[in-house]
Amino acid sequence: ETTLLWLRQDLRLHDQPALVAAAHAGPVIPVYILDDDAPGQWRIGGAQRWWLHHSLDALGKELAAKHSRLILRRGDAVAILRQLLADTGATRIHAIRHYEPWWRKQEDALGDVLDLYDGNRLSRVEDVTTGAGTPFRVFSSFWRALQAQLPPEQPLPVPRTIPAPEHWPESDALADWDLLPTKPDWSTAFAKDWTPGEAEALVKAKDFPDEVAAYDRRRNLPSEEGTSRLSPHLHHGEVSPRTVYHALGHDAAAAAFLRELAWRDFTAGVLLALPDYGSVNGRRKYDALPWRDDAAAKRDLKAWQQGRTGYPIVDAGMRQLWQSGWMHNRVRMITASFLVKHLLVNWREGERWFWDCLIDADYGNNSVNWQWIAGTGVDANMFGRIMAPLGQSEKFEAGDYIREWVPELADLSDETIHDPDAHGVRPDAYPAKIIGHREGRERALAAAKTLG
Ligand code: FAD
Repeated sequence: ETTLLWLRQDLRLHDQPALVAAAHAGPVIPVYILDDDAPGQWRIGGAQRWWLHHSLDALGKELAAKHSRLILRRGDAVAILRQLLADTGATRIHAIRHYEPWWRKQEDALGDVLDLYDGNRLSRVEDVTTGAGTPFRVFSSFWRALQAQLPPEQPLPVPRTIPAPEHWPESDALADWDLLPTKPDWSTAFAKDWTPGEAEALVKAKDFPDEVAAYDRRRNLPSEEGTSRLSPHLHHGEVSPRTVYHALGHDAAAAAFLRELAWRDFTAGVLLALPDYGSVNGRRKYDALPWRDDAAAKRDLKAWQQGRTGYPIVDAGMRQLWQSGWMHNRVRMITASFLVKHLLVNWREGERWFWDCLIDADYGNNSVNWQWIAGTGVDANMFGRIMAPLGQSEKFEAGDYIREWVPELADLSDETIHDPDAHGVRPDAYPAKIIGHREGRERALAAAKTLG
């Protein structure tokens, strides 16, 4: 019995339950469909297209090595899959389950011919719920409940053979999809830091456990490489969280890392309950927040995007994002908070910018983290909690990080680099602060007060 293997954010052969089931049933036709309409405003962003191109290229080669192929199509995924069923005589579609609302809609539309498998989270998301059976809204309680479901089962091996159909359907040529960005030309810079594809994802998953003992101490220090950098691989499903989990062994030191890895499961649960979380405030009272939206606000947004706010830690982060497609987690928090609180710009603007610039842009992770920082989310974090970017920069010893990403400041000492203005130092070409810390803070608190 020939089946279609519908690949999405699960571009791997290891621990791929949908592939295992399909290969067991008979000939397999692996298909990737680029559907830019179904996600609406959440179509894959610019930086991520670069990743996708290389990841699909790598997967195509791995399938070819197993005498299989990757069929590429572009358009409405549901219509294309139905047409492929008719054209190939395949009877079923196998796929891994995803939680983005546009995927779930398509899964529903396909109905009975689709067999869905869990495989991209540590646990079945529907199983980790409150006593009342609803998804958790607060991470700490979610984490307690998820631990009761661990360890996950052992990862599945790659099927020994992937039976091929007698006739292959037509495929687009990857190059014709024009996924590689030309303006801006991100390719060269990204390729220095990143290698998309399953092979590299597995190397990282295998090597990171050597570092995991130091994770808790180093993960907040942007000047060090203390985190796994697995996020774009995990987003594209080039490695499964189960594989990452079991590579860690039973080291107690892995606990802090697992707690972060669990955030992906948590955000999937939030999307199940609140599929529009990328655009709708978790707490509707914040709909009335008087965000700035005039010409001055637009100028400020631009300065933030370009890394020219006069706050070295913020500028370093925003330039790292633009130049490498990724940003350190601590700095994501600082830059996001600065936009939303100090500049009083709607969190959705920042979320959008991250969506276009991040190679790991992920609808659940991005929106949950933005709403958490903004204090508009369903959890208990309040808008009135305002991070002090300069204090954070000092506390987490960001000096070398700033020197790397803001070359105008490379010669400054550890004492002056976090806040050159305060020391009367103004290297040429580095902007003055676009707003004072106290001024920004007070404006944000005043705006929050209008909500009563
Ligand atoms: P590690 O510290 O090594 O963590 C391992 C894995 O756990 C990560 O790869 C990631 O998959 C997961 N993880 C860790 N922290 C979080 C978290 N807070 N939320 C969700 N998952 C987490 N992460 C994304 O994958 N995509 C996004 O679009 C995204 N947007 C963000 C926006 C903001 C404003 C903030 C504050 C955070 C965002 N994050 C996002 C979460 C986090 O910053 C990244 O997952 C992390 O920096 C990736 O680096 P790493 O792989 O080295 O992480």
